[in-house]
Amino acid sequence: MKRIILKAGEEKRLLAGHPWVYDNEVDRILGNSGSASLQAGEIADVETPEKTYIGRAFVNPASKIIARLYSPSKEGVDKGFFKGRIRKALARRFMYDLTRESARIVFAEADFLPGLMVDRFVGWDLAEAERAVSNRPLAFRDVQNALGPPRAWLAVQFLIAGMDCRRDDIVLALEEVFAKDFGPLAGIVEKSGAAVRELEGLPKREGLLKGTLPSEGILLFENDFPFCARLEQGQKTGHYLDQKDNRRRLSRYVPVGGRVLDACAYTGGFGIHALRYGAGEAVAVDASRPALDAAQKNADLNGLDRRITFIEANIFDHLRSYSRHDGFDMIILDPPGFAKSRSMLEEALRGYKEINLQAMRLLRPGGTLVTCSCSQVLGENRFKRMLTEAASDADCRLIQLDFRGQSGDHPILLGYDESNYLKCAFYRQVGR
Ligand code: SAH
Repeated sequence: MKRIILKAGEEKRLLAGHPWVYDNEVDRILGNSGSASLQAGEIADVETPEKTYIGRAFVNPASKIIARLYSPSKEGVDKGFFKGRIRKALARRFMYDLTRESARIVFAEADFLPGLMVDRFVGWDLAEAERAVSNRPLAFRDVQNALGPPRAWLAVQFLIAGMDCRRDDIVLALEEVFAKDFGPLAGIVEKSGAAVRELEGLPKREGLLKGTLPSEGILLFENDFPFCARLEQGQKTGHYLDQKDNRRRLSRYVPVGGRVLDACAYTGGFGIHALRYGAGEAVAVDASRPALDAAQKNADLNGLDRRITFIEANIFDHLRSYSRHDGFDMIILDPPGFAKSRSMLEEALRGYKEINLQAMRLLRPGGTLVTCSCSQVLGENRFKRMLTEAASDADCRLIQLDFRGQSGDHPILLGYDESNYLKCAFYRQVGR
């Protein structure tokens, strides 16, 4: 086993639980007989110059993150290892009923499986369900009565070399663990499209690995409301699971009978939840036509197609096109991550401030703003400061109702700030 010897003093962050070793923190690499070089994907031990053992890591000399720790001990990596880690990750999702809820099952480093993401979608073949049940809104129980218990599909991302070269073991481990607990999987699709793979020197890879995917998409139920997920087409893994707890939270604050703007709606998750919880009408805006087509389908499954309007537009232009008397009782802003790295932060903040300022301008008295950022480099304090500046410019007083992060199936690991990325703040406009 090769050994990565750190420079003096570089171990502190690692001992506090951060799993990444950067290439400039490494003093030398040792093999069995003297100095050695690392191969992409192999495993190696990380030590201090004083020979204090830090742990075992997946390595990639092509990446600035040269090693990602996965264990504090000299643990090997085979199918059995992956099964153990996946079982533990499953147990960590105890707050969800996985027999009927879709969830992220493996959240990479935060589940001690660096660079591996696994989302599990629970539901039925949408086309079959629609043939069997014509009621709207479509209800879980009716579909189950007609077609039997739901099945499950996985969307898997191998984001680092260490995971990519062990894909066969990982897929087998996933199949075996899930078959034991929930019955055989209906399909596994690879969605390794993320930009991180480029930094690892890996090509984008997508496609079906096992089983089949329903041609019209998977019908899943989120917070008991029907949605369609197209794993092979969608952005990310087809449905943003990280917002599901926040969408549910809308039930507390929704303006009954009121008017809602779902900005950057993607497949309509927030807007549809708002309507199902009692809002009167909704406008869903997104720059992507395929996303809006999927949102339209979701509105239909929920029996809401007459209460929601879909607009294909750039959110910056669209918000500016309204005048103050076009007001909304609730506005949801869920833009894509404007800052992918620290160097983009200032520019990104201008974008966040602009859309928040415009949204605040359009809030009716007593209206609710739900504003999100999925940029990990934008910390909670800086996000709130941006909102304070926007509110001041918009002459809008806001009370914080709630400040939340990502859903519990995307665990936040203390000591590893990269796992804490989503901010979802709820504010109410108040008079002076
Ligand atoms: N709220 C969604 C997730 C939003 S993801 C949900 O709950 O599922 C961000 C969305 O913003 C994507 O659908 C993307 O198409 C859209 N988007 C990106 N840039 C945009 C822009 N400038 N104007 C409008 N929509 C944009």
